[in-house]
Amino acid sequence: MKPAPFAYHAPTSADEVVALLGELGDEAKVIAGGQSLVPMLALRLAAFGHLVDLRRLDDLRGIERREDSVRIGAGTTQASVQRSDEARVAVPLLARATPLIGHFQIRNRGTIGGSLAHADSAAEYPAVALTLDAEFEALSPRGRRTIPASRFFTGTLSTALAEDELLTGVNFPVWQGRCGFAIEEFARRSGDFAIAGATVALRVDQSGRLDRCAIGLFGLGPTAVRAREAEATLVGSEALGADAEDVGRSATTNLDSVPSDLHGSAPYRTRVGAAMVARAWRRAVQEALHGGMA
Ligand SMILES: Cc1cc2nc3c(=O)[nH]c(=O)nc-3n(C[C@H](O)[C@H](O)[C@H](O)COP(=O)(O)OP(=O)(O)OC[C@H]3O[C@@H](n4cnc5c(N)ncnc54)[C@H](O)[C@@H]3O)c2cc1C
Repeated sequence: MKPAPFAYHAPTSADEVVALLGELGDEAKVIAGGQSLVPMLALRLAAFGHLVDLRRLDDLRGIERREDSVRIGAGTTQASVQRSDEARVAVPLLARATPLIGHFQIRNRGTIGGSLAHADSAAEYPAVALTLDAEFEALSPRGRRTIPASRFFTGTLSTALAEDELLTGVNFPVWQGRCGFAIEEFARRSGDFAIAGATVALRVDQSGRLDRCAIGLFGLGPTAVRAREAEATLVGSEALGADAEDVGRSATTNLDSVPSDLHGSAPYRTRVGAAMVARAWRRAVQEALHGGMA
């Protein structure tokens, strides 16, 4: 099938983009790398009268180290994130998640902003952003605002962005101290979306106690989620004291609306999710205590 006809716009500034979005209303959609949008248009799962292409917006690309964070322009490709030394050193969880996204051809075109705005619950970047408490920068005809990751993902493929709002960048806080980061996922074939996955970020104090801990889950609900109850019980305890399997089970109890489909039933996905948390937990603890990945 081919997409329904559309008018094509290729503005050169973010202000022009949001002016067009404001003027054209729900008939318009921005297109970045096209790796999610084009298949949906081609299959006629979605149709828009106007596509507003971000490819000429040089200002939307780039990775910049700031004092306490790394800012990544929404139009930066996933391949650029993968190649970035700034990301590897300062935001290791993001760097480790990136090669798990699809295949290199997809990462060459797909953007970080596209992945976050598309908000697939099985995608890696939303879980990373939630786990690290990233902040999203949005621009609309009404001006700029910042949206914390905890309020960005609102449901299946939906976000807090208004129809005329453009995601311009994401700020990932840089965690300081003795930290460990890990992502684990299970997919039937390399490059497929995960059936279930987990992200772990933690920090230990001088005595080996956890003073910060975040566990993200993906593929296990309408959006990526944080296992906040499990996190709260872990903070203050000895990093080596927690049994990884127990952490996995506790992080995946009381999940809302775990999907059940031909790829796996909800109970199966939940068990896979618990196993992914346990694996990620072990690796993150190992890194925090001994400075290297297990
Ligand atoms: C075979 C295949 C396998 C894949 N596997 C994975 C995987 O394992 N993990 C994974 O995470 N992804 C996977 N993807 C999706 C891929 O990562 C996409 O790149 C990503 O989801 C969307 O990025 P994009 O730049 O291509 O966005 P587009 O497809 O251009 O846009 C996606 C959506 O985001 C909106 N959007 C884009 N940029 C902005 C912006 N700056 N502001 C506001 N809205 C915006 C668009 O309007 C659209 O609604 C896969 C894709 C394919 C085709």
